[in-house]
Amino acid sequence: MNGELLVTGEKHPMTRRDFLWFMSVSAAGFMAGCATSPVTGRRQLILVSEEQEIQIDKQNSPHQFSADYGVVQDEALNRYVDQTGKAVAARSHRPHMPYSFRVVNANYVNAYAFPGGSIACTRGILLSLDNEAELAALLGHELGHVNARHTAQQMSKGILTQAVVGGLSVLVGTRGATYGELASQLGMIGAGALLASYSRDNEREADALGMEYMVQTGYGPQGMIGLMDMLRGLSKRKPSAIELMFATHPMSDERYRTAVETAQSEYKSAENLRLYRERYMDNTAKLRTLNGAIEEMQIGEREMMQKKFDNAEDHFDEALKLVPNDYTGLVMMSTCKLFQKKYKEGITYAEKAQQVYPEEAQAYHLSGFAKIQTRDFEAAYQEFKTYEKLLPGNANTIFFKGYAQEGMQHIEQAANEYQRYLQLVQQGDKARYAYQRLKEWGYYK
Ligand SMILES: [Zn+2]
Repeated sequence: MNGELLVTGEKHPMTRRDFLWFMSVSAAGFMAGCATSPVTGRRQLILVSEEQEIQIDKQNSPHQFSADYGVVQDEALNRYVDQTGKAVAARSHRPHMPYSFRVVNANYVNAYAFPGGSIACTRGILLSLDNEAELAALLGHELGHVNARHTAQQMSKGILTQAVVGGLSVLVGTRGATYGELASQLGMIGAGALLASYSRDNEREADALGMEYMVQTGYGPQGMIGLMDMLRGLSKRKPSAIELMFATHPMSDERYRTAVETAQSEYKSAENLRLYRERYMDNTAKLRTLNGAIEEMQIGEREMMQKKFDNAEDHFDEALKLVPNDYTGLVMMSTCKLFQKKYKEGITYAEKAQQVYPEEAQAYHLSGFAKIQTRDFEAAYQEFKTYEKLLPGNANTIFFKGYAQEGMQHIEQAANEYQRYLQLVQQGDKARYAYQRLKEWGYYK
């Protein structure tokens, strides 16, 4: 690979290898700084300060939320989950952290936490829960990870020596390897090296803390049992939803048994606390009207991951018949088209997605990518510019902006973007490409 294949203005269509190269992933390093565990009170080898945890969270979580199709536009639902989470957080060991709880538009079943307290659950998992106590258990578990400082611990042990920004690993972490491979071809982004790295002991500790916090908040321990039972049962009832996830949350049988045992021992006196099923059902009623469409999307996403693109398209079509303005459905359909190199159709769906959710960034990346493929560099540039305004900090965007400028023969602007890119990323094919160009243009000797 000599970095010369790609283009300014002329013909050569990309080969598959070029395509893979072009879309390859870039990584950025992280800084590390010592501490007493807020949970156990014991000294821990933690080289990451609280300030840094918050900083890492701020830099990374918006990219993950966007990879999950943004926060739901249903403000009432979002507020409900945030209020429920904050009530539980107030009973945690680190109540001062800047917690936020949100629902993201992804359909796969999961929840996750960033080290500064940004916590999200997918609409897929909300549909699988039966009452508010289960929701409190779920959020309590994620709070457990934040409070026991699991991410900071992992980073300090060198398990997470670098987090990937603008890369592959989030999708591997949350959706499985094939999807990650596919998505990286589109230069899609995420931050999930931070997410997929909990040990089994971390999971046990988060469960124990989650139970503690939710019961102290006033929820019956049955909520944790219900959550664990759901996770355990999901693999049988709805394989399409579960295949995509929970590389991050294994050992569900053990976790279920532990919840039952602690509920009967340590938390016996709390057994009559309420579960608030009715309140949960009221607050999720609107979401549950999307159930049929979301199931179609879950199946479609699985088909897409298995590279059965025709089948996937059928399911996305069915979903969009039910909910024509569903951002996730539109983005998935666009993605599916792009995987098949149907760029024009991909653009149509991406632009529709932009219309229904103009503040969400992912659709701009997709159309920008597709417009580069169709050599509409000016339009591609505008898409990436909008993307960067909405979601700064993705190195890929900067590279693509440079690439689009180069396509328009704007050498000075292209050089400018490539230099910005190289300040963030010094390794990989894109960095080599940018460096090569800058050398050719006389910016470097
Ligand atoms: Zn966990």
